[in-house]
Amino acid sequence: MMDVPVDGARVLVMFSGGLDSAALLKLMLTETQNKIWVHHISMRTKPHRWEAEDPAAFKCLRYFSNYYRPFTFSESVIDIEKDVSGWRDIELIAFLGSLYARENKAGFVVSGQKKADPTNSSLPDEWLARRKFESDMLKLFYPSACWVYPIVEWSKQKIADYLEPELRQLTWSCRIPVKKNDTWIPCGHCFACVAKKEME
Ligand SMILES: [Zn+2]
Repeated sequence: MMDVPVDGARVLVMFSGGLDSAALLKLMLTETQNKIWVHHISMRTKPHRWEAEDPAAFKCLRYFSNYYRPFTFSESVIDIEKDVSGWRDIELIAFLGSLYARENKAGFVVSGQKKADPTNSSLPDEWLARRKFESDMLKLFYPSACWVYPIVEWSKQKIADYLEPELRQLTWSCRIPVKKNDTWIPCGHCFACVAKKEME
């Protein structure tokens, strides 16, 4: 199965501002000649993670445009703090990725899921279910495009080694940040915080 976009195609990179998506974007900007379109989803849910995640994502993107090569950027703001429909992250990402692929005629959508993610390991079929969901959604919107996962086999350590320390520090991983003196700080306990600590 193809996990790297073909050169020359326009590529839509789903970018959260975390370590995985930073590694993914660096890979796309350095190892391919593709025209890169970066899309960030500001997911405004109850734990207010977006208040910490969004500024980190913008800092990363500024770094990428300063030190790597030009790309186009767009953002969706999804305010579901009071929503009761039960949307899940994966559904929003699949929908918006597919919609933006069609609007921007992107031959590939890439995202930074990894088989080794803790959220995937508890359910052996979750990764395949996600892959099928994203691929099916994309088929509805833009049948000629493919959704691929270039860093799917990467370990956390490989990602840590691949990202220079300056860039690593700009990323945001914590799932449940806490606010102290008007500043969001990582909780230090969630799986993302634990994984990030292990890299240092
Ligand atoms: Zn945390």
